[in-house]
Amino acid sequence: MVISCPHALGLAVPLVVAISTSIAAQKGLLIRNRTAFENARLITTIIFDKTGTLTKGAHELQEVKVLSQDGDEKELLRLAAGLEQHSEHYIAAGIVRKAKELNITIPQAENFNYLPGIGLEGRVGGKEIKVTGPNYLKEKNISTAETAEDFTGTVVYVLIENEIAGYFTFSDQLRESAAEAIQTLKKAGIKNLLLTGDNEKVAKQVSDELSMDGYLANVLPHEKLEKIKALQEKGEFVAMTGDGVNDAPALAQADVGIAVGSGTDVAAETADIILVNSDPKDIAGLILFGKATYNKMIQNLWWAAGYNILAIPLAAGILHKWNIMLTPAAGAVLMSLSTIVVAINARLLKTKA
Ligand code: ADP
Ligand code: MG
Repeated sequence: MVISCPHALGLAVPLVVAISTSIAAQKGLLIRNRTAFENARLITTIIFDKTGTLTKGAHELQEVKVLSQDGDEKELLRLAAGLEQHSEHYIAAGIVRKAKELNITIPQAENFNYLPGIGLEGRVGGKEIKVTGPNYLKEKNISTAETAEDFTGTVVYVLIENEIAGYFTFSDQLRESAAEAIQTLKKAGIKNLLLTGDNEKVAKQVSDELSMDGYLANVLPHEKLEKIKALQEKGEFVAMTGDGVNDAPALAQADVGIAVGSGTDVAAETADIILVNSDPKDIAGLILFGKATYNKMIQNLWWAAGYNILAIPLAAGILHKWNIMLTPAAGAVLMSLSTIVVAINARLLKTKA
C-alpha cells in the first residue's frame, strides 16, 4: 500500500511543465499552448513571414518620386499619409512618420478601404487615392514610364483618380540574429521557407542573403493559410512565424504558431507561442528546448513508473523465498526517494536551457 502510493507519477509531468515554463519565460518565450510547445520537436518545416519577422520592419521612407506632370513631392506624401494614418502596416508607419517630419498637415480620409496584401484606397481631399504595391499595377495592367523595378527594397505606388502619380521606396533591415536562426534550424534538419506579400525581387534578396531553402513571394493574406495547408497535406509538420494581422489565419492553421512580440495583438492572440524579444534566434532555441522538455517528461515518467515496477512486486513479497522483503518503513523511504528523484531530474532541465 505504501509503495504503490503514486506520488512521483503524479508529479513527474507537472514538475517538468512548471520548470520548463519558467525557463522558457527567461528565454523570452511566452507559451500560450503547452501542447504546441511540446510538439515543437516534430516540426519539419518552418515558414517565416518576411516583414517584421525576419526584418525589423523599420521601413524608412527613402525616396519620393513624382511621376505625374503637375504633382509635387509634398502633395503626394500628404495624400498618401491621409490614407495611411488608418493602417497598422510598417509601410503606413514609414509614410506617416516622414509626413510628420516634414511638418505636413495630414488630411482626413473618407471611404477608407483596406485591400489585403495590396494596399489602401479611399478619398482624400475629394480625390480618389490608392496606395498599393507593384502587384496591383500588374493586375490592372497599369504601366509606368519609370518604374522602381531596379530598387531592391519595398516600393508602393500612389494613384490619383486611377492614374499613377508617383511612388515611394523604403528600406528595411534584417534582424541581427536572423541568419544565425536559419543556420541553427538547418543544422537541426528543419526546412525553412520565406513567405511574403512583397514582390519576388525583395523576397529573393532576403532569402539569398540568409541562405534559406526557398521563398514564396506575392502571397496574398488569405493565400498564406493555403500555403500552410498544402504543406500539411504533404505530411509536413509546419510551424509558422509571423507578426501581422494578415498572418493570423496562417498562425492558427500551422501546427505550431509563433508570433513576434513586436507585432500586432491579433497575431499574438492567435499564436501558440510569443517571442517576447522579437528575436528570430529564440525560435531555434524554442524548438530545441521543446525537444528537451518532452524528453524530460518521458524520462521522469520512467523514473516514476520504473520504481513502481520494481518496488511493488518486491513489497508484495516476490523475493520472499530468498528472505528478501521490503518492510513498510523501507517502502516509505523509497517512495519519498522516488519523488525526490523525479523532482531533481525535472530541475536538471535547467542545464538544457
Ligand atoms: P508581408 O507578408 O511581407 O508582411 P503584407 O502582406 O503585409 O506583407 O503586404 C504585402 C504588400 O501589400 C506590401 O508589400 C505592399 O505592397 C502592400 N501593402 C500592404 N499594406 C499596405 C499599406 N498600408 N499601404 C500600402 N501598401 C500596402
Ligand atoms: Mg509581416
